[in-house]
Amino acid sequence: MLDAIVVGAGLSGLVAARTLRDAGRSVTVFDKGRSVGGRLATRRIGDARLDHGAQFMTVRSDTFAAQMHDWSERGLATVWCHGFGDGDGHPRWVGTHGMNALAKDLAVGLDVAVDHLVFSCTWEHDHWVVTIDDGQRHECQVLVLTAPVPQSFSMVFETVELPRAMMASDPHRTVCLLAVLDRPSLIPSPGGLPDPNDDVSFIADNAAKGISPVPAITLHASPTWSRDHWNDEDLGEQLIDLAHPWIGTAHIVESHVKKWRLATPTAIWPEPYWSDTDHRLVLAGDAFAGPRVEAAHDSGLAAGRAAVSLCTPHR
Ligand SMILES: Cc1cc2nc3c(=O)[nH]c(=O)nc-3n(C[C@H](O)[C@H](O)[C@H](O)COP(=O)(O)OP(=O)(O)OC[C@H]3O[C@@H](n4cnc5c(N)ncnc54)[C@H](O)[C@@H]3O)c2cc1C
Repeated sequence: MLDAIVVGAGLSGLVAARTLRDAGRSVTVFDKGRSVGGRLATRRIGDARLDHGAQFMTVRSDTFAAQMHDWSERGLATVWCHGFGDGDGHPRWVGTHGMNALAKDLAVGLDVAVDHLVFSCTWEHDHWVVTIDDGQRHECQVLVLTAPVPQSFSMVFETVELPRAMMASDPHRTVCLLAVLDRPSLIPSPGGLPDPNDDVSFIADNAAKGISPVPAITLHASPTWSRDHWNDEDLGEQLIDLAHPWIGTAHIVESHVKKWRLATPTAIWPEPYWSDTDHRLVLAGDAFAGPRVEAAHDSGLAAGRAAVSLCTPHR
């Protein structure tokens, strides 16, 4: 039996798993995606490289500062800018090769099984049985769930009652346009604009950001626009219309639409993790302490430490 299973190979899950492994614990991470990273997502389209989830990172805590220092020393993270518009002086960090490369870095040396959708987790007397959608069953002492809360809830609701306040969340959606251009965009320096109007929450130029060798933009529609247009058949054309002021006369070489159904939690649990010690269960992720990359990191770290303390002591 494994000491721990972590569900979710986003930033929080990978950090939790590394914390368990570094404490000498056996741990496997399962993720339903084709690759690690979750919302730290980067896509190649031809020669272009585009971040389509998180666009940049801020650093406030000492723990995330230490992680960023390590990535920066190894050339994996760099400062994009010090704010947008007039700037506020605080560094905005990006993955030098895209945000997803940071997740891949954290996954090195871990036992991670992607393309494994966790279907249910049941408590059997003194341990967890985690069932994958293909019927595989895996046993562990401690279970760490780092999927967005609605997904984590669906895995354990038969065993554990989660606090109502944690469930009172209707996560925001985000629809995203990825477009490769034949010439630079009109997005002003430094190549990112937060909330340029009511319909757009962020637009970025991945070339100006330094991660794409060719001009390529990422547009995130606002939560309201995303909800109202979620099922529109002509979503791609409408998103291109939204991006038009920053595309100008450039020709779109190729474009794609990505929908983030659980993009941003709206109810934030005030602690970095939640645990049920009777059932050796820990919940973590960006719904704990804040919907940002750094919060997901620090939540994963705190959850990993809590999970270590729930494991049976080494003999
Ligand atoms: C469009 C967008 C823009 C953003 N921009 C920024 C930004 O600029 N700056 C910033 O700081 N933050 C930003 N964020 C937020 C940031 O990306 C997240 O806070 C952070 O990446 C969350 O990490 P996580 O580990 O908590 O969750 P996730 O990255 O979502 O990881 C959870 C993982 O669980 C897996 N999973 C779910 N259900 C199952 C299941 N049943 N079985 C197996 N695996 C499962 C998923 O596949 C996923 O990989 C943005 C997010 C989005 C969506």
